[in-house]
Amino acid sequence: MEYAELVGVYERLAGTDSNNEKRDILAETFADAGDLLPVVVKLVRGRLFAAHQREELGVSSSLTRDAIAKATGIADDDLRERWRETGDLGDVAAWAVENQTQQTLFSELLTVERVHDSLREITSFEGDGSQSRRVDEIAGLLSDADPSEARYVVRTALGHMRVGIGEGTIRDAIAVAFLDGSDEAIDAVERAYQVTNDYRVVAQTARDEGRDGLADLDVQLFRPVQAMLAEKGESLEQALTDAATDGEAICEVKYDGARVQIHKQGDEIRLFTRRLEDITEQFPDVVAAVREGVTAESAILDGELVGYTPETVEFDDREPVPFQRFSQRIKREDGVEKMAREVPVVVHLFDCLYDGETLIETPFSTRIDRLEATFEDVAVRPDEPLAGLERSRALTASVDADPEEMETPDAVTERYREALDAGHEGLMVKNPAATYQPGTRVGRMLKVKPTMEPLDLVVSRAMYSEGRRSDWLGRLYLACYDDSAEEFREVGRLSTGYTDEELDALTDRLEELIVSRDARSVELRPEVVLEVEYEEIQRSEEYDSGYALRFPRFLRRRETLAPSDADTLERAERLFEEQ
Ligand code: AMP
Repeated sequence: MEYAELVGVYERLAGTDSNNEKRDILAETFADAGDLLPVVVKLVRGRLFAAHQREELGVSSSLTRDAIAKATGIADDDLRERWRETGDLGDVAAWAVENQTQQTLFSELLTVERVHDSLREITSFEGDGSQSRRVDEIAGLLSDADPSEARYVVRTALGHMRVGIGEGTIRDAIAVAFLDGSDEAIDAVERAYQVTNDYRVVAQTARDEGRDGLADLDVQLFRPVQAMLAEKGESLEQALTDAATDGEAICEVKYDGARVQIHKQGDEIRLFTRRLEDITEQFPDVVAAVREGVTAESAILDGELVGYTPETVEFDDREPVPFQRFSQRIKREDGVEKMAREVPVVVHLFDCLYDGETLIETPFSTRIDRLEATFEDVAVRPDEPLAGLERSRALTASVDADPEEMETPDAVTERYREALDAGHEGLMVKNPAATYQPGTRVGRMLKVKPTMEPLDLVVSRAMYSEGRRSDWLGRLYLACYDDSAEEFREVGRLSTGYTDEELDALTDRLEELIVSRDARSVELRPEVVLEVEYEEIQRSEEYDSGYALRFPRFLRRRETLAPSDADTLERAERLFEEQ
């Protein structure tokens, strides 16, 4: 397939705001894609890898500028100037190709396969000279591109397509292209995506095997399942009544660590985060614990990884380390063993998705029994290092139907207090009859924490501070997620609460996400999630959400959250109504 054809699709997508039109354009493209269907499904969103694959493109904006300069002969200063004006390196590339000062001698046609393979190839470059090989690879593509092709090659390399399609549009397009497009067809595609996490597989199955094929798709070892998410309970009583079935709810300690999904088959063990990233290499102590404790031949287990201080971890009253400290383990690439001794972890297991048989359609109470049959406790041994493995602390509570009338059982109140005293976040209240719902936030698992709830918000834009902190992006625009529009909506501007060190680290991260600049303001790819407290929510014309946070203060970065896990506009509205 000629790349120009796909570029035509991008241009049509970018040219309409209508989701239905976008869906139809995509459906037509998928239907015509033939053997290239899996590649096209990924490329329309500018993705080259499935979420759980470990490769990262490692392409920064400066590397991209180098490639444009190399391919076109235009000086970096001119490219920078242009970038400042247009704010998009894709547009800069198109302009540079249009105005290039050097002509390529042999021009080879760009095909979809070539663009895809070249960009994927980039991830395999390692060590000395890998940067310049990346530049060469992208420059090679640009030398053979016309201006529009150059625009999208660069946007794909940077992972930001600007054509405005979300997961929902892809899902609907698959349902229209290969099924009858009905609500049932959309549900079938959605379910298939939840278990496989991979639209390439879903699209191909829908095309080749129809609805029955989609229904047969199942959880698979070493392909992580989207984690079931929790809703916020407005109070303990409300959470208990919402989650109860037949007068019972299961209450567990809510730990403050990182979600981990453990896949094991025989000797092969892999660990994934909630964002489906593979973190096996960073946690050899957890791998050792799984090897020692998980007796089932094959299993997919869900749990929370928590770091404790080495002096206390072997005792009952162990002390969690601040999340900031624990999160260093997630990022660590070298010195992993040393770090594992310094910040020993315990895995608190709370669910089982597979034990030789898929369990996601099985009620939670049964899944717990099956979970308990898959493993034996492992006592943590920081010196080795060996992680601890244990079941999360749980109790079954009897619940009356009416939240107004209900008295919280003493055992629950006591457990709640105990959890907080031990430095954990609160309680998780779960419905014993609920199936495992990958990727969704339905009232089957409710979290209950004290205090007025802070919000998890995404940084959408930023400005450099003035004065002493002028090198840092200290003024951050915060956005919540509007589920229905699949867009972020701003709710305020943050400028306090961080230490210099935190701000420095935050700036480094945010600068990687810049998509355009205007003087001292930058627009960002919405990826970083911050936890923010505030005094109240007000109505406001200033932001496109219609609300503004009063006195927002930074609490911490939420590294384990994906942007789509940010709090929703609906929740902000509810909090506004309730205050
Ligand atoms: P939040 O990140 O605030 O939305 O809360 C949901 C997260 O709490 C889950 O994704 C888990 O990482 C974590 N968590 C901690 N303890 C538990 C538990 N006992 N059951 C389920 N999730 C838990």
